[in-house]
Amino acid sequence: MTEIDLEKERIEILNAFKGLLRATKDRTRENTKLIRKAFDVAVDAHKDVRRKSGEPYIYHPIAVARICAEEIGLGTTSVVCALLHDTVEDTHITLQDIEDLFGEKPRRIIDGLTKIPEVFDENASIQAENFRKMILTISDDIRVVLIKLADRLHNMRTLGSMAPEKRLKIASETKFLYAPLAHRLGLYSIKSELEDLAFKHTEPEVYQQIENNLKSTQDVRNRFIRRFVHPIREALLHEGYIFDIKARTKSISSIWRKMQTKGVPFEEVYDLFAIRVIVDTPVELEKPDCWRIYSLVTDFYQPSPDRLRDWISTPRANGYESLHTTVMSPQGKWVEVQIRSKRMDEIAEKGLAAHYKYKEEKGEDSKFDRWLVEIRELMENPDLSAMDFVNEFKMNLFSEEIYVFTPKGDLRVLPHDATILDFAYDIHTEIGSKCIGAKVNNKLVPLSYQLHNGDQVEIITSAKQKPVDEWLKFVTSARAKQKIKTALFEEKKIISFDGKEILQRKLRQFNIKYTPENIAVLEKYFAYASAQDLYFRVAKGKVDLAKIREIENHNGNLSLEKKGSNVPKDKHELDVYPKINKQEDVLIIGEDFKNIQYRLAKCCNPIPGDEVFGFITINEGIKIHRNNCANAEHLMSKMAYRLVKTKWKKQELTAHLASIRLIGIDNVGIVNKITEIISNQHNVDMKSIFFEANDGIFEGRIKVLVYDKEHLEQLTNNFELIEGVKRVERWDSQDEEAIQ
Ligand code: MN
Repeated sequence: MTEIDLEKERIEILNAFKGLLRATKDRTRENTKLIRKAFDVAVDAHKDVRRKSGEPYIYHPIAVARICAEEIGLGTTSVVCALLHDTVEDTHITLQDIEDLFGEKPRRIIDGLTKIPEVFDENASIQAENFRKMILTISDDIRVVLIKLADRLHNMRTLGSMAPEKRLKIASETKFLYAPLAHRLGLYSIKSELEDLAFKHTEPEVYQQIENNLKSTQDVRNRFIRRFVHPIREALLHEGYIFDIKARTKSISSIWRKMQTKGVPFEEVYDLFAIRVIVDTPVELEKPDCWRIYSLVTDFYQPSPDRLRDWISTPRANGYESLHTTVMSPQGKWVEVQIRSKRMDEIAEKGLAAHYKYKEEKGEDSKFDRWLVEIRELMENPDLSAMDFVNEFKMNLFSEEIYVFTPKGDLRVLPHDATILDFAYDIHTEIGSKCIGAKVNNKLVPLSYQLHNGDQVEIITSAKQKPVDEWLKFVTSARAKQKIKTALFEEKKIISFDGKEILQRKLRQFNIKYTPENIAVLEKYFAYASAQDLYFRVAKGKVDLAKIREIENHNGNLSLEKKGSNVPKDKHELDVYPKINKQEDVLIIGEDFKNIQYRLAKCCNPIPGDEVFGFITINEGIKIHRNNCANAEHLMSKMAYRLVKTKWKKQELTAHLASIRLIGIDNVGIVNKITEIISNQHNVDMKSIFFEANDGIFEGRIKVLVYDKEHLEQLTNNFELIEGVKRVERWDSQDEEAIQ
């Protein structure tokens, strides 16, 4: 065992600390004192601890703090928290100590940092669950995430000093969780470094091979770059630009990605490096200058038209701005050229930090920019208590989007009030149209369930499902709406088309011309809102076409002038329903209706006890609908003159058909329990039963004969008591037969 030179170590630690202070940007006396205090607390707390490599633990927090200051551009509070980030979890220091020494804000940040577990379980659902927690923490203070990224970056840089069994987990988690997070926050260099470091540990051999290949081809590459850049450099100098040209080899992991996706060997990955032209120019000249440079570059080299990316006119959501093109070199090799201003370059490299530095110069107002402004203000404002960061933050970015997970742990971003149906359509149109419900965090929920941040969603589909009008009320995303509308429209169109043919044949038979005028007469006669509606119902067999004969016909032209018409207070109706017009009062079903033809509407199957109304139909007398029938609103608003107040006669003991839908978790014997309840309950007659199970969820539809609402409720209450039954509801068929 080698002896440790403690004095030498002490000096090294102090030097590391001085390096950190130099890297800190807002170095007032006050801030320096605060950082020093945090340093002293951390040194003392970790004093007996060494990392696996044997070096004192304190190197780690110092390095993390330095990454925060230098590579992310964070201020004093973050540096203080980074220095202390492992104290609460690993030492005797408590959150209360932190608050007493440094105040409320550092306490909350360190609390957040401590809550993010170091290693997630490889099980996808647990990973998602943890990530959810992390996102919730983000919404408390973005610095938690940024410090966590710095922590992770340093751990990845020194992964060798972590326990071997942890390395692979940390590496793959870095790839799936932290690199994408860094990307989203615009921290591009941290993102690609994280990716490369993760790759190095997950695929050591491939990594090594690519690294060797890069080394051995370096001279050739440098020569190529010199030749390629030469004419561009000359032209830019000639035009008087202040600029810098960098040639950057693509990161090892992105080379590998390209090899994988294109299925080609290393030698054939055409753009192993990108040339970056960075021009130093005032903000107002950025755009014209970048395009001017693009024009100069393409004077020498032929661009690939489908590989032009203009992120200057429309920056990416995370603030990235740049002009990318891929051009053909004389050697026949494609080279990516990135053109951007110095400001854009700093933003691309450092993300947030550079963004606030430049923010005042531009007047954009995108969500993300507002959010960045908040962060900047937060960091520039020395008075921590003056800011209610939490609320501000929640009003911005995360209030407009939610993050949810697939069963495999894939992240999906949806509008904040998205439902199960939105999610299903986001996955795939077919999944959307066949969706009957979902399991959210293993609980069964209906289509209309509103999702929350971090939910894990498993869609349940059925081959028999298809979109219905009602679905439009359940979705918020434009995509889902569009898909549902298209499906509804297509179906209606197909059916209507058949209806149109049937009607045309019928009109020929009656010697009536098929003209828009005649169709308009028929629309009016049968009381439909549009020709499409009329065709649709003809196809569905819901229009009594023989009635057309009753309409006045002059040489093939129809007219509503004399014969049967359904205009209100028409003689025709008065003759048929004398009683209704005589009596202004409520009609009692079963009494007043004795001499009047009436039917219970099939669309809502009213039973005694339900609140109902009567609707005067053309052919079938009065139809009784429930007040909450899906068709009620339409009937009441459009054809109020055809409504009659209606009530049930008391104690009428006639059986009525009612449909019940049950949804629940499929377990053995549940169907048996349900049928048992039906047969045990007095006087309930089961007409039909239909059960369908899918992925552990069942849906049952039962038709029973009951006397009244109360009778039905007794039954449904008993169903609700069955273990596994999650929902019991009155169920109406979607059949639209309201008006006839
Ligand atoms: Mn740490």
